[in-house]
Amino acid sequence: MLRGKKILLGVSGSIAAYKTPHLVRLLTKAGAEVRVVMTPSAAQFVSPLALSTVSKNKVLINLADEDQWANHVQLGRWADCMMIAPLSCNTLSKMAHGTCDNLLLAVYLSAVCPVVVAPAMDEDMWKHPSTQNNIQALASFGNQIIPVEHGELASGLVGAGRMAEPETLVSWLENQLSSNQDLIGKKVLITAGPTHEPIDPVRFIGNRSTGKMGIALALASAERGAEVTLVLGPGSSSLPSTSSINIVQVQTAQQMLDACLRVFPEQHIAILTAAVADYAVGNPSAQKIKKGDGEFTLKMERTPDILQTLGGLKNSGQCLVGFALETENEREHALAKLERKNADYIVLNSLNDLGAGFGTDTNKISIFDRSQNEWHFETKSKQAVAQDILNVVLSKA
Ligand code: C5P
Repeated sequence: MLRGKKILLGVSGSIAAYKTPHLVRLLTKAGAEVRVVMTPSAAQFVSPLALSTVSKNKVLINLADEDQWANHVQLGRWADCMMIAPLSCNTLSKMAHGTCDNLLLAVYLSAVCPVVVAPAMDEDMWKHPSTQNNIQALASFGNQIIPVEHGELASGLVGAGRMAEPETLVSWLENQLSSNQDLIGKKVLITAGPTHEPIDPVRFIGNRSTGKMGIALALASAERGAEVTLVLGPGSSSLPSTSSINIVQVQTAQQMLDACLRVFPEQHIAILTAAVADYAVGNPSAQKIKKGDGEFTLKMERTPDILQTLGGLKNSGQCLVGFALETENEREHALAKLERKNADYIVLNSLNDLGAGFGTDTNKISIFDRSQNEWHFETKSKQAVAQDILNVVLSKA
């Protein structure tokens, strides 16, 4: 998909710049022509010589070198896509405010092609309101923001702010540059995240889901042209600002069901990734429960099964996809779920697979349909997994 595409890679000053020679290798291997523009501080993190060697093109840093002027307008017009990776806090701020004090910024301001950015910074910087305002500004200019990942940071802390891995960046470019708009005119409903079932006003029963898989599916569906409704449980991962997704925030399984029922009749595809609580406290206390000396028992009731409810309502034109997170007899349980809940597909992820399940940035899935077809995939980023799921669903739509 990247064969013959012209990619302009902007590298700014962040430790994640050490990954860019690998990124350029992946892009050139995929057949893309790559030119690299760096900020002066990026050259402290990665050698221009390494990048010029892997890209087979001179790396540009300065607006003028002796008697040579780098034509930023021509570079901005040459590219099919400009990717800025890593995007440092400083370059982000300058882009948001139109500052033009180096070649990378001049090229950005002159670019007429789509611009995709992959931020990389420490968690506290990432979460600072001014950074988030700058990100919003870029999104409002139509730039695509590749979500930061969670993990070990250069500071030694663990948190959100890591640049997405080069493989994920390549998938974003593939999607950006493929004219894959196969969901135009389709409505897609996605549930994601956990539910919280109240015990009293301050306590709840929940689970470790972060909603990342559902969010990746919502973004991938929107990119492919769908009108997306995302019913999102509490405390889920944040979503990059993409105006086209209608987000409905809910707390409990019952609220999630109600939100789904309101929109389900007009949906073409519903993909239920949420880790819905199976039990809720029958009669949550209106006041905070005081501790006593003895044992304490909670009486729990079954929550509604959203997938099964929608399975009972769906018409022949609707496609319903469920998830199964299993720890034993995975295949058998997944197939039983497909049948019982009247879904068209079940996506199985096993907690026994490394890099699959709750909170990770990757997933390893198998998909089953009702005609005994099976698809098995390797461990991939959740963004790439989302594309695989949509490809399977659309192969029969
Ligand atoms: O039965 P189990 O919880 O393993 O089924 C998982 C699938 O069913 C997921 O797609 C999940 O989103 C959905 N589900 C649901 N409502 C529930 C429980 C699960 O929609 N109450």
